[in-house]
Amino acid sequence: MSNYLFSKTAYIKGVQCDKQLYLYKYHYKLQDPLSPETLAKFKGGHDFEDAYRAKYFPFAVDIEKIAKSRNDYQSLTQKALQKQVSDIFEATFVYQEVLVMNDVLTRSSGKWEIQEIKSSSELKQTHIQDIALQYFVTKGALGQDLDAKLVLSDEVETYKIIDVTTEVKALQGSIAANIEHFKNVLEQDSIPQISVGNQCEDPYKCSFWGYCHR
Ligand code: SF4
Repeated sequence: MSNYLFSKTAYIKGVQCDKQLYLYKYHYKLQDPLSPETLAKFKGGHDFEDAYRAKYFPFAVDIEKIAKSRNDYQSLTQKALQKQVSDIFEATFVYQEVLVMNDVLTRSSGKWEIQEIKSSSELKQTHIQDIALQYFVTKGALGQDLDAKLVLSDEVETYKIIDVTTEVKALQGSIAANIEHFKNVLEQDSIPQISVGNQCEDPYKCSFWGYCHR
């Protein structure tokens, strides 16, 4: 997948700090090693996602499973769409040089819907930011309107599915502005000069915390 400038992960890092975006794109190896706690959290998230997908979409096409490499994700997504597949995992699109992979892309009553799965019981603004970018790219690539839902954990029902289409649509102008800004950041020929501050741990501990705080 060489036809993109940055991914959703990089975008989210850019929302936190321009310098983090730049370092992630051009100096990836300077990141802090992942702690055992973080790795365990990732695994818990994957297990939650797998269980939800197996329960609600047992016949979906899983792009990650059928691809030989990440370079195949986009073309396999296009093939699945041409075959009129209704449920796709890791449906991958590039629009305006930004890459996203949707946890679930599903079609119901003729309209596409993206779902982002989070093993969190609390709806956070970062979740909305996350799916708002996916909406921007997926809608742009598909060329049609769609819905957006978040899947969170729920003690009683196991899964809480929240329609956030209205909130996501309200953010589309800021997403476009951020993408333009990030393209300018990535065109710079040196690391942005940004001092450490509150942004280094808000909303996440920056993955370059060690590099900047040494
Ligand atoms: S540690 Fe702080 S200043 Fe350095 S890249 Fe991360 S958020 Fe930016």
